[in-house]
Formats: sequence, structure tokens, C-alpha cells
Amino acid sequence: MSKTIAINAGSSSLKWQLYKMPEEDVLAQGIIERIGLGDSISTVKFDGKKESQTLDVADHVQAVKLVLDDLIRFNIIASYDEITGVGHRVVAGGELFKESVLIDDQVLAQIEELSSLAPLHNPANAAGIRAFKELLPDITSVAVFDTAFHTTMPEVAYRYPIADKYYTDYKVRKYGAHGTSHYYVAHEAAKLLSKPIEELKIITAHIGNGGSITANLHGKSVDTSMGFTPLAGLMMGTRSGDIDPAIIPYLVENVPELEDAAAVTNVLNKESGLLGVSGLSSDMRDIENAMEEGHPGATLAYDMFVDRVKKFIGQYMAVLNGVDALVFTAGIGENGWMIRRDVVKGLSWFGMEVDPEKNVFGFAGDISTADSKVKVLVIPTDEELVIARDVERLK
Ligand code: ADP
Repeated sequence: MSKTIAINAGSSSLKWQLYKMPEEDVLAQGIIERIGLGDSISTVKFDGKKESQTLDVADHVQAVKLVLDDLIRFNIIASYDEITGVGHRVVAGGELFKESVLIDDQVLAQIEELSSLAPLHNPANAAGIRAFKELLPDITSVAVFDTAFHTTMPEVAYRYPIADKYYTDYKVRKYGAHGTSHYYVAHEAAKLLSKPIEELKIITAHIGNGGSITANLHGKSVDTSMGFTPLAGLMMGTRSGDIDPAIIPYLVENVPELEDAAAVTNVLNKESGLLGVSGLSSDMRDIENAMEEGHPGATLAYDMFVDRVKKFIGQYMAVLNGVDALVFTAGIGENGWMIRRDVVKGLSWFGMEVDPEKNVFGFAGDISTADSKVKVLVIPTDEELVIARDVERLK
């Protein structure tokens, strides 16, 4: 029996989940938010209880120490050495990391070098890794990359139609994201359908605040909607997704407050998507509520969102030359029955149909009608479990 902790470190947050392995029992989970901002909030959930406290957590080392001390305080562990493994989610693995790896000094340096591909995420991921190395230097430490699952994409999918030197010299290509989630739900879908994944064509729609859609051929990613960065693809909570790249210089030249490309990129990342179009909120629940009250911006945002999801599914049916199952996952995919209904309504010609009695809030599993040629599935994602399993496998 061992205890393994899965870590998702952001620039000002640290999300964690503690497992008893190999049983895969979740012993506790939590999040520390607002690290370094003076009034950090730490929340721990265990045994059906939820404990929160506000205190000053200066950096990731202090955050990890707080997590470990809370685990002792709440009698979840008796001492630090009960934790034998840690798995870290790392956003960008570039072309270097095609699978999860044990972290040594070289791997940590490489994760930091890849920061140019994920400037907001990789430095934070590395800070989380370093904090654990400092406090628990002897435990198994594994990096699980968001991009690894997508390294099976063929060159036609991952290359952009720009001159070769930009790929060769500057590594500009599609890397994708949410790989751990797409991998997990595609495998769960195969289990649900009682078929070997090697025989299935599956489209996985991870739609949360950020979102991406992946074409899975026989269990491997062959195309995905996020690109060089997670700004590409679908319309998201605050991100634009795909737009004409010529819009960027046009805005720089014509909008006084957008002085350079960085300013526009910031708008595209943080002030676009559902938030930008609705002028109201980046949260799908707010959009749906406002739409029901007749808010025109929310209605347009909702319709555009559905349109983008539908079009990527259509593209990937072409990429796969058919599809056996469509999987919805993440916050909107798992809970948003209205979005699922409206996306699939537009795909009925392709033989997809959801059963309104199953397509309800709180239902997971097969939501398609008996006649539906393509199975439509709702599968809650579990990236932390994949991380914990990889630690177990590599130790
Ligand atoms: P993140 O990408 O930050 O992990 P999540 O996967 O948690 O995001 O998804 C958050 C999104 O899920 C929000 O837009 C939220 O409104 C949406 N969501 C949660 N519950 C529902 C629901 N019942 N109906 C529609 N959308 C929902």
C-alpha cells in the first residue's frame, strides 16, 4: 500500500489529490488559491468534510508544506514519509516528452526550457516540482505531460502551412492540450462500449472553461483542436479559439489601446470567447440563464459556442472517415445537457441522436437513442487518476 499525490500547479494555485494506491481510493483533495497574493485560501476535502482557511502562503514551497501539514492535522497521514510518490501535471512537453517520465535534474531543466511554449504554465509546474523536491526529496516523482498523448499526430495534422524553417528552427507546430483527459475518456469509452480501443474511432470533446476536441483513431490522437498554444480551436470561456490571424495586426494598427501583438493576445486569451461575445460572463451557466431571459449577447455567444463545437466534430468525422462514439467531458461536457442536445441536433444527418430522457443533468454513460448510429457518451474525466496511475507504473 502506498500513498500518491497528484499535483496540478498553476502560477498562483496548487490543486492536489491524494490516493491510496493501487486501490485508487481518493483519501483527500484540495486546492490552495491566491499563492503569493497575501490572502491565500486553502481548501481540503476528506471524509465528506470540507475545511477552508485563509492565510498568507508566499510561494509553492510553503503551499506544499501547508498541504502536508494539513494532511497530518486532519489525520489523513501520520507523517510525511507515508507519501511515496508524486505526479505533476506539466502543460508543455514539446517534442521531447512523448510519455510520462521520472523527474531528475535534467528533466526539470528541460521542463523549464519548454516554458517558451507555455509561459504561464510550465514555470508554475516547475515550481511545484521543485517544492516537492525540497520537502520530500526521496519519493518517486513523475511528470505527466498534457501534450504527450498528442505526439502521435501525423505530420499533416501537426504542421502549419507555413515555411519549413518556422517549424525546424522555431518549433512552430501543433502540440495540443488536455491530452491526459482525452486519453482517459477515450479508454473509458472503449470500456463502456465493451470493444477494444484498437478497433474504435472516437471523437472526444473536452469542454470546460478551456476546451478541445480530439480525433482518436484506435486509441491514438490523430488530430486535436488546440494548437501551438491552448488559444486555438474552439470558442472558450475567455479565449477566442481560431480566428483569422490577419485580425491581430489589423487590431494593432487600428485600436489605440492595443499597442502591440502582446496586447491583442491578452485580449484573445482573457477577454474573448463567451465573455467577450456576451459582454456578461465566461461561465456557461450564466450564459444559459441569461439566454433564457432573452439576453441577445448571451444568445449569440451560446449559438456561436455550439456552432464551433459542431464544426470541429464534423472535421474530425472527416479526419477519421467515420466515428463510432462521441464523448462529452469536462465542466460543460459533463453537465451541460442543453449544449449536448444542441450540438448533436446539428449532427443528426451523420446518425447521431441523443435520448432526451438520458440527456439530463447528473447522468453519465450512454445518452444516445437505441437507433443512434454513433454512440453519444458522457464520461466524467479524471486526469488526477491517470497521473496517480503513471506514478504507480513508473516507481
Ligand atoms: P476548467 O477548464 O477551468 O477546468 P471546468 O471543466 O470546471 O473548467 O468547466 C467549467 C465550465 O463548466 C463553466 O463554464 C461552467 O459554467 C460549466 N458548467 C458547470 N456546470 C454546468 C451546468 N450544469 N450546465 C452548463 N455548464 C456547466
